[in-house]
Amino acid sequence: MSGRTPDHYGLLTDIGRVRTHNEDALLAEPPLFAVADGLGGHQAGEIASSIAIETLVANAPLHADSKALARAVHAANRSVIDAAEERSGRSGMGTTLTAAIVEGSHIAIAHVGDSRAYLMHEGGLERLTEDHSMVADMIRRGQLTEEESRRHPNRSVITRALGTDPNMCADTYDIETAPGDRLLLASDGLTGMLEDAEIAALLEANPDPQDAARALVAAANEAGGQDNITVVVVDIGGSSRGRGWRAARASRGSGTADAGEAGASTPRSGALRSWLAVAAFVLVAALVVGGIGYATWSYARTQAYLVGENGFVVVYRGVPGSLGGVSLHWREVETTVPIAGLDPLLAGRLAEGIRTEGLAPALALVEQYRSELPIAMPGAQSPSGVTSATPRP
Ligand code: MG
Repeated sequence: MSGRTPDHYGLLTDIGRVRTHNEDALLAEPPLFAVADGLGGHQAGEIASSIAIETLVANAPLHADSKALARAVHAANRSVIDAAEERSGRSGMGTTLTAAIVEGSHIAIAHVGDSRAYLMHEGGLERLTEDHSMVADMIRRGQLTEEESRRHPNRSVITRALGTDPNMCADTYDIETAPGDRLLLASDGLTGMLEDAEIAALLEANPDPQDAARALVAAANEAGGQDNITVVVVDIGGSSRGRGWRAARASRGSGTADAGEAGASTPRSGALRSWLAVAAFVLVAALVVGGIGYATWSYARTQAYLVGENGFVVVYRGVPGSLGGVSLHWREVETTVPIAGLDPLLAGRLAEGIRTEGLAPALALVEQYRSELPIAMPGAQSPSGVTSATPRP
């Protein structure tokens, strides 16, 4: 390995002040560092985040190669899916994973979910990763501000995670740093409690990385500690080569338009375990944050999901639930694809709903399911699969 491996780092994970389990996991095996935030509740999240970290360690490259690191994250995804299949009671489990390899001045990152990587450079804090979350989508579309997103009832809904989709893609980043820079990996238990400016101030005020980790966790707890809090702080060593500081995004996993995103939306935390629980949360929170109701409704209009009803796959536009009494979903198509003809794991996911980015991918998934039905199965032959359709509003 060229350049120095980082020898100054701090790390801390904390249960917070509300949760009964710590479902986060972290890793510091220089040059490899990672944070994972498990989801699924009833200890499933702990299992998922631990499996992800173990698989990452076993498959990670020795050098700061972001593409190879992404392949290790994909292997971790496969491991979580396999573990969920082997233990039926844990079929809902998943995890975020943000992994970094620090080699000299270069950092390679692979990332899925809403844990984050930041770089502190000359007093400024740069967010390196983009969250895969519903509120981040809405911010990118101009439907929500950063400030509003912190209070949004669906702020914990993530749109990409390990453990749900075999075709999941990790985003990768290649970052050039300068000596004295500081890398921070954190779960949303930190970033949901503290503004970026507060995080930057604490990183500045604590030269020792372990002190910084302690200070960050303490501040998140003082702010409410509503989730598990996990931080890894890595000081970048080495001597300056005059390369300057540059943050370059190499590649973002696309999530592959249709099937890639399907089923990847996994509400996290005990209270938000199922989509329906999220929907109930939306209803309550609508009373609190009425001003963002229209944005939520607009967002829902662009979404779609598949669900099993009366033994068949049904396609809805929107998201489950309602907002202040206004439905956020519209039944589009009742298909002739029988749940009984599908893979049991898929059937299980359909019971909870499989989300897609819009109607076209949902319909494509229906045809994919149909093509996989046994030939003798009713519904296997129909080209359209549509028995009735309700016009959308
Ligand atoms: Mg969390």
